[in-house]
Amino acid sequence: MKIDKEWVIDQIEKIACFGKGQRGITRLAFTEADIQAQEYIMSLMDQVGLVVSRDQMGNIIGRLEGGDKALPAVLTGSHLDTVPEGGKFDGVVGVVGGLAAIRRIQGMGVLNHTVELIVFVGEESSRFGFATLGSKAMVGLADTHAWSKAKDQNGVSFQQVMAQHNLNIQQIGAAARSSEQIKAFVELHIEQGQVLEKSGNTIGIVKTIAAPTRLKITVEGIAAHSGSTPMEERCDALVSAAMIILAIQEIALQQAGRGTVATVGALKVYPGSINVVPGLVEMWVDLRGVNQESIVECLQVIKDAISNITEEQDTVVAIEMISSEKPVEMNPEISKLIQKSCTDIGAPYQVIHSRAGHDAMNMSKLAPTGMIFVPSKEGISHNPDEYTGYDDIMTGIDVLTETLYQLAK
Ligand SMILES: [Zn+2]
Repeated sequence: MKIDKEWVIDQIEKIACFGKGQRGITRLAFTEADIQAQEYIMSLMDQVGLVVSRDQMGNIIGRLEGGDKALPAVLTGSHLDTVPEGGKFDGVVGVVGGLAAIRRIQGMGVLNHTVELIVFVGEESSRFGFATLGSKAMVGLADTHAWSKAKDQNGVSFQQVMAQHNLNIQQIGAAARSSEQIKAFVELHIEQGQVLEKSGNTIGIVKTIAAPTRLKITVEGIAAHSGSTPMEERCDALVSAAMIILAIQEIALQQAGRGTVATVGALKVYPGSINVVPGLVEMWVDLRGVNQESIVECLQVIKDAISNITEEQDTVVAIEMISSEKPVEMNPEISKLIQKSCTDIGAPYQVIHSRAGHDAMNMSKLAPTGMIFVPSKEGISHNPDEYTGYDDIMTGIDVLTETLYQLAK
C-alpha cells in the first residue's frame, strides 16, 4: 500500500460515501453510516498490520507495537462522526492522516514506543447533546449518569444505542486509561476558521482550545389571545427573548477584541401559534473564547442585561448553566516539537487558537497534547462546502509523521 496523495484522496473520498445524502454527509454518532465508516477504517488498519481493538466506549484503537513494551505509547487520532449535512474533512483528515503517518513510520524500522491511532466515537454533540464522548471516556471523564438519560431526536436512548453495539453504559468507566500508559497525543485537524487561509500559512500549531459555556434561558410571559389582548397589557415572552438575544450579541461584540463569541442557536416558542401571544420561550446560548476572564465577564454582563430586560418587560427568566468548561492550553513541549517538524520540513506555520472543541481538549488531561491545523477554505465547516486542499493535507501529514516519529523513536 503506497501512502501518497492519491491514496489519501482515495480514502477521504471513500469515507465520504458513508452517509452521503442530497446535501453533505450525515454520519451521526453510532448510526449505521458511522459504523460503516469505522469498519472501513478498521479494515485499513488491519491491512497495514496494526493490532486493532475497541475499548468499552467503542473507541477504535490501532496499535503499531513498539520495540519496548514497557514504554508509554504515542497516540494520534480524531473522529469519523459528523454533524447533520456536514463535510468530508472534519475529523476524517486526522483519522486518514494519522493512518498515513503511522504507515510511513512503519517504514522507518521498529521504534521504541508503540504508536496508536485512535478513532474517537461521538465527537459531535449532534445526536445526543453531549460532545467528545469517546475522548471523555478515555480520560475517565464519562458522565454515565447524565449520558444514560440522553436520547436522540427519534427518542432512541444512548443506552439502547450502546447495547445495540454490544456495549454496556455501566462499563464505560473501564475505557479510562492511565497517564502512565501514554506519552503524548497529537491530533491533526482542519482549522474550521480562516486564520491560516488569510495568513497564507499551511500549518497552525494550536496554543489554546476555546471551551464552550452553555446556557439554557427560559423566559416566562403570559400566553394570551393575539386579537383581544391590548398591546400595553401583554407579557410577551418572545419579545423579551428577542431583546435578550440582541443584548447577548451586543455584549459579545464588545468582547470581540478578546476573542469571545456568543450565539443563540436554538429557540423554542410556546405555544407556538400565530394567534397566541407567546407565553414561554426556551433558548440556548453558546459562549466561547480563549480568554477565561473575558468569558466570566461576558457571562456576568449577560446576566445583568437579562435582569434589566425582564424587570422592564415583567417577564420571569430562569438561567440554567448546562456546561462551563475552561479554555484548554496545549502542551508547550509538544507544540515546540511540532514547530521543529515544520521547520525541518519547510512548512510555513504559525501559532493559532482553536475556536472549536476537539478530542485533544480531553486528551490533554491525560497526556501532553498538541494539535496541528491545516487550512479550511473560507473557514467553512460543519457544511457540505467544507474544503481543505490535498496539498495542505499532505503537508499536515508530513508534520504529523515527523512529530510522531520524534516522540516514538
Ligand atoms: Zn472535528
